[in-house]
Amino acid sequence: MTQELLLIADDRTPAASGQYSELIDPATGVAWASVAQGGAADIDRAVQAAAQAWPGWRRLSSRDRTRLLLRLAQLIRDNQESLAQLESRNVGKPLHDARIEVEMAADCFEFYAGAINKVGGTVNPVAAAGTSLTFREPIGVCGLIAPWNFPLVITAWKVAPALAMGNTLVLKPASLTPLTALRLGQLALEAGIPPGVLNVVPGAGAEAGAALIRHPLVRKISFTGSTEVGSQVMRLAANDIKRVTLELGGKSANLVFADADLERAVPQTLWSLVGNAGQDCCARSRLLIERPIYDEFIDRLELAFKSLKLGLPQQADTELGPLVSQGHRRRVQAYIDAGVQAGARLVCGGGPPQAEALQAGAFLAPTLFVDVEPQMQIFREEIFGPVLCALPFDTEDGAVAIANDSPYGLSGSIWTQDLSRALRLAKAIETGVLSINTGHSIHLEAPFGGVKRSGLGRELGLAGLDPYSELKSVFIAD
Ligand code: NAD
Ligand code: MN
Repeated sequence: MTQELLLIADDRTPAASGQYSELIDPATGVAWASVAQGGAADIDRAVQAAAQAWPGWRRLSSRDRTRLLLRLAQLIRDNQESLAQLESRNVGKPLHDARIEVEMAADCFEFYAGAINKVGGTVNPVAAAGTSLTFREPIGVCGLIAPWNFPLVITAWKVAPALAMGNTLVLKPASLTPLTALRLGQLALEAGIPPGVLNVVPGAGAEAGAALIRHPLVRKISFTGSTEVGSQVMRLAANDIKRVTLELGGKSANLVFADADLERAVPQTLWSLVGNAGQDCCARSRLLIERPIYDEFIDRLELAFKSLKLGLPQQADTELGPLVSQGHRRRVQAYIDAGVQAGARLVCGGGPPQAEALQAGAFLAPTLFVDVEPQMQIFREEIFGPVLCALPFDTEDGAVAIANDSPYGLSGSIWTQDLSRALRLAKAIETGVLSINTGHSIHLEAPFGGVKRSGLGRELGLAGLDPYSELKSVFIAD
């Protein structure tokens, strides 16, 4: 069993408390690693290290920071297979998917490495006699808190722009999935990024996470996770007006009109829900189908659901792995049971798969509910598992009303060949990200984030640098 320590400056160190937590392989139920559990004392050490490293890191020339981040991107690529193996085993995601995610992380470091010398301040045409300059400056020590569903990718979305802007960091990975974050911290040191610039402290959210948010030397918190915890993060950060970025939950709508290209819409409707076993904040978990094609669409979708290959993450033909933990599977199962209880019609799935080889893991058969009512709990709350809820609609306005009747607003899709309708709906739907004729949400070069209770602020694209910088206006009188 491997034993993992915290990473503070260039020290791999046990937690001050001496506590460890075991990681369970979600596909087999076997404990396979133990990880030091950081607490307030460890967070304090890491924040002190980051504060010490800040003056040097912010002073480094833009060219030097670019080179260091490019070197880190290359090291991520060089270690693609071992990182993918770690991520796959830790989260239970198919190895094939994990390999792609490692590439996405490397791409992200390359993007922000290249952005460093292309963004700067401004000269402002002020009325007064003189010159007004605006500097774009780093914030200081930033605390980053990551979720377990895409541990390395989402960490890269935060670490890359934050380092590019000249901040130093303390990263608190999700308790269940700290391994690739620790590896990333080591690769950063190998790349030549100075000790203390990126510190990694695994630990429980309520302890290490909360201590990070409370720490007086931390000036900004970037959080990805559930809306419930996000709200607590915002409250804790309010005490000293810390900057916050929140990427939270979703319950995204997928609107399929009768003129949609079903050859594309059916498989992508499936994949935009079951990808990562449904543990995706962008999952299109509410499916709205125009009535004339409702029955046909459901029939085709049922076939697609039933042909999915559930399996062990390391098997080459596996399309769907287990959920992240038994605890999470129980939570998803409770939603399914509530849906059945409420009278939604279960077309397939509904519980664990039958296969003998999958009994020890946290597997759940992909589940399709139809004839769901918009007021049902399964249609309103984020389930975060492979559970799709479908209903028919009759009018465009009716569909928009259902789509917008949600506390969330993260992502979504529209399927239609009618360009005017697509644009009309793109304006009408309350969401941060919307895809037309695709189920895909993420483009590294474009801003990503939610409205309403799905979050605050944007990541990715050049906009992803804003939350890691402050603007300072300087005026020089003539
Ligand atoms: P979570 O909210 O349970 O935990 C997220 C992180 O916060 C973890 O590191 C956790 O240890 C920490 N944490 C927990 N309690 C804390 C506290 N009191 N103070 C400080 N930190 C605390 O989320 P999760 O279960 O890891 O991830 C699933 C959720 O994340 C889903 O709701 C999903 O939609 C959301 N998510 C959103 C995005 C996005 O970009 N919008 C991306 C991925 C996941
Ligand atoms: Mn959680």
